[in-house]
Amino acid sequence: MSSDYLSTDAVVAERPTEFPPRDLWIGGEWRPATGGATYTSRNPVDDTEITEIAHACAADVDAAVRAARHAYETSGWRQMGGTERGRILFAAADLIAADAEYLTALETLEVGKLYRDGLYGDIPAALATFRYYAGFADKMYGSTVELPDYAGRHRLNYTLREPLGVVGAITPWNNPIVVAGWKIAPALAAGNSVVIKPPEDAALSILRLAELLERAGVPAGVFNVVTGEGETTGAALANHPGLDKLTFTGSPEVGALLSLHARGPAGAQFRRVTLELGGKNPQIVFPDADLDGAMPFVAVGNFLHQGQVCAAGTRVYVHDSLVDEVCERLAAHAEGIVLGDPFLDGVTMGPVINEAALTKITGYLDGAQSDGATLVTGGRRADRDGWFVEPTVYRGAQHQRIAREEIFGPVATVIPFSTTDEALALANDTHYGLNAIVYTESLHTAQRAARELDVGNVWINAFGIPDMTTPWGGRAGSGLGRELGPQGIEAYTEEKTVQMMF
Ligand code: NAD
Repeated sequence: MSSDYLSTDAVVAERPTEFPPRDLWIGGEWRPATGGATYTSRNPVDDTEITEIAHACAADVDAAVRAARHAYETSGWRQMGGTERGRILFAAADLIAADAEYLTALETLEVGKLYRDGLYGDIPAALATFRYYAGFADKMYGSTVELPDYAGRHRLNYTLREPLGVVGAITPWNNPIVVAGWKIAPALAAGNSVVIKPPEDAALSILRLAELLERAGVPAGVFNVVTGEGETTGAALANHPGLDKLTFTGSPEVGALLSLHARGPAGAQFRRVTLELGGKNPQIVFPDADLDGAMPFVAVGNFLHQGQVCAAGTRVYVHDSLVDEVCERLAAHAEGIVLGDPFLDGVTMGPVINEAALTKITGYLDGAQSDGATLVTGGRRADRDGWFVEPTVYRGAQHQRIAREEIFGPVATVIPFSTTDEALALANDTHYGLNAIVYTESLHTAQRAARELDVGNVWINAFGIPDMTTPWGGRAGSGLGRELGPQGIEAYTEEKTVQMMF
């Protein structure tokens, strides 16, 4: 992790009063949406207006995709060689580091993410991703295969790793610059052009990133931003026939729709697609777990960023012998959380993203007890202005809605089990398959769980975070494909085989 700006212990949270350009970033220019259409970005702490942001229509999206294609063919980005592209992306990472406070503040303002978490978590993760893929830019190797001679002549097979062309990216609001970076950094490193549709609730940091990429030397048109709502701007991008790849992170519902769009408007194209979707992830506390070590992770796995984390481990399976103690400790943690303005030191949980999210979450809370769950703590909208939810713990059962559906709020459900077989079966009893967390001191149990859990990622004895060096992604209802690690480059390149006889 970079230490460019992490040398200070003090969290100095300055609220931005000036905003980056709110127009669309197309072909290296800021331009308003057709007809001047805008939408309003709001602060979830008090629902006040932050700014007006351009709302791109289909014609604007078309202009962005055309600019990206033009740049792909003429800007020299893919032809300049990986070392030079890598140099520019390293420069971009340096600019992200230098801009860390401002980028963090934009996300805190729009998303309600704790300023401290953004500054020490999200921004270092984003710039580490840029550096990782900057280093990859001149290491995208094909392979060579010697073949036996044929008809008296030598033969050689080799592969070329080539960019795909124009990548359309649609991203979620919960970790705006981190998740966007998982797509932008490898796509650009590989020589592609990108059109991104950031989330309507959190576009400002991505618009700022456009400025930083331009300053770093990314040629005009190689990176484009079209802001707007999902059903309009997002759908126009996903359906655009000029895309070679669609990469999406967001809800399973929209992901399912976009997997159809990946076939192109007439269903006749076979575009590459990556889908990073939601989860209802298990955390399993085995009877031999070191509870003192495990409980902080179990708690953070539920309450980090108000539970608005795809990896959140909200199905907490606990051995019968530990259920009372785990409920008590988790409740104590929840009751110690300080709700409030995420810019303030001492506040440990901000608001959820918007009124619709609040309504969705409280809907789950309202139905939980009639569904048979036992409330341990929380269970309501917090008694204050803004979109705040009390951190909540239930004792529940597998069949209940709170234990099956992704709530995307600070809601944990503790479910007892008695044997390892039962725990693994319960954990696998879901249509999701993103990640799982297991707590045990037994190497055997940990390795058995790692092999038998039907997920893309297993974390042992800690609630982890996706790391740029290793692949991240889901199975089943949690998505398709992998991001990060060397696989992140594969996701934005095609391998071409060349066979030669001489
Ligand atoms: P969402 O699906 O509502 O929106 C994601 C993006 O899709 C936004 O930019 C939105 O504008 C756009 N969109 C919405 N409808 C669209 C449509 N019809 N056509 C095209 N684009 C459309 O998701 P969200 O609320 O922003 O994010 C939360 C979800 O994302 C959760 O399910 C969470 O688990 C998931 N997520 C997954 C990962 C991962 O790595 N697997 C990471 C972060 C978030």
